[in-house]
Amino acid sequence: MSLSQQRRSEESYDQMLILVGSSVRLLGGLAGVFVLANAAFDPQSSSEYTLYGLHEEEAALFLNSMRERPQPGPARPLVVDALAPTLVAQLESVRALLDEDGDLPALERCSLFVSDPAGPLGILHCLRPVGSEVQAGLTEEGRHLVMTQLAAGLRAALRAQSLVREQQRLAAIFQQSAEGILSVDSALRILDFNPAMERLTGWREHEVVGRFYFEVLRPKDRQGHDLGLQGSPILQAFSGQHVRDRELVIVARDGQQFTVSVTASCITSPHGEPTIGILTIRDITREREQEEQRSTFISVISHELQTPIAIIKGYASTLARSDAVLDPQALRTRLKAVEEEADRLNKLVGNLLYASRIQAGGLQMDITPLDLAPLIERAAERLRVKHPEATITLDLPAHLPPVMADRERIEEVLQNLLDNAIKYSPGKAHITVTCRAMADEVIVSISDQGMGIPLREQAGIFDRFQRAGNSKASAIQGAGLGLYICRAIVEAHGGRIWVESTLHSGSTFSFSLLREEKAQLPMVVF
Ligand code: ADP
Repeated sequence: MSLSQQRRSEESYDQMLILVGSSVRLLGGLAGVFVLANAAFDPQSSSEYTLYGLHEEEAALFLNSMRERPQPGPARPLVVDALAPTLVAQLESVRALLDEDGDLPALERCSLFVSDPAGPLGILHCLRPVGSEVQAGLTEEGRHLVMTQLAAGLRAALRAQSLVREQQRLAAIFQQSAEGILSVDSALRILDFNPAMERLTGWREHEVVGRFYFEVLRPKDRQGHDLGLQGSPILQAFSGQHVRDRELVIVARDGQQFTVSVTASCITSPHGEPTIGILTIRDITREREQEEQRSTFISVISHELQTPIAIIKGYASTLARSDAVLDPQALRTRLKAVEEEADRLNKLVGNLLYASRIQAGGLQMDITPLDLAPLIERAAERLRVKHPEATITLDLPAHLPPVMADRERIEEVLQNLLDNAIKYSPGKAHITVTCRAMADEVIVSISDQGMGIPLREQAGIFDRFQRAGNSKASAIQGAGLGLYICRAIVEAHGGRIWVESTLHSGSTFSFSLLREEKAQLPMVVF
């Protein structure tokens, strides 16, 4: 709630208090409670009231005691009856006002139904000494006057209150909205700038209020050209056009650009002139990225599936020809190629399934204490057999502490990183695997002297289907899933994975795993 709203709400509450107090006094009462009619115009079931001269608990006692008694209504606006001495004994605030010398005073309640031509407003219950009506000299006419005044005052106070509530509701929507909202005056100067807008642009409301909104958002069209003032969504709304879900690019304070969907509307004066423009802005950068990812997915996967299928088909057709005469060596070479391509297909399908399992959150692991050295030695051995031309050096300390890990999954990570080191090293690969034991974790690094990765692409390559430009340009095949899977596995172990790389010089991929004695992991992690 803003300060001015709070002040207005306090003011209308004070106004109610004064009204209820003076009405209670006019009816000869000492204390009282005004129960506001609720939305169903039923004061009986309402829980909103204003107290005068009573504590909360006393008011609850008092109202409770009257539940079974006759209530005033449109047909019988005034009900007066005596209160039980047991109740009076409990109403300390009222007794204190009577200044009696210990004896319980005789009290009555006087309940007045308050309404105006617009409908019931509530019931005023007063507590007063028996016979005080006579002292107050209230005639039928006097009572009517009290009621009319009270009703008029109450109606005004209620209106003020409902206005404040409405403002609070709107302010909450404005503050909590996930969409950015800004409003401008007729000269396009910013009036309001909600927190979602602050998050999106990096500007704070107090920094932008009063500034020309174009200068703050620097809107561009989808092609990246600066939007002319005639293209301003708010000006278009001012001129009576419908602006809904228009796609624009805006520039944040730090220069970062966002694709947003913009809706503009305006408020007009009674003469029909636009006075305030409102812009709602939804960040759709992520949606656009996802769309791009989907189309990348389709092109990568179809390419990755088609290539091995074409090769297998080519060899199979040659081998199947009736006139094919192949010596055993040539036959073996072709069959070997068919086998390799089938393996590639198999791996791709496996990786796709793995990636969709990760996305569905279904990565199940069996974590036990694990000795990394023999695991790395075996992986290196397998690679040497498969790629005899590559040199693989291991740099493992003599006593490597065990880590907590799922053996099979970590084998997959090693395999993926070693395969990449070979794949992205043109010519002969020189690979080094290093292990270092730190205070809490063990770090495994796989270095190559291959093509490296451009700096700006290094952060992205762990995402699905992301491939660095230089590897695509070199026509090295891949689906961009291996590192995504590696990251999911390592992170599910509570570890980290990262890359350090220099273009044309080589890359080092490292991951960390928690040391056995430091890990607090359960045995099975989902
Ligand atoms: P894939 O190799 O199938 O494309 P990965 O997820 O394993 O998928 O790798 C993602 C991208 O990261 C690769 O396409 C490549 O651009 C880059 N990359 C991975 N490892 C290396 C490496 N050792 N050297 C250079 N680039 C690499």
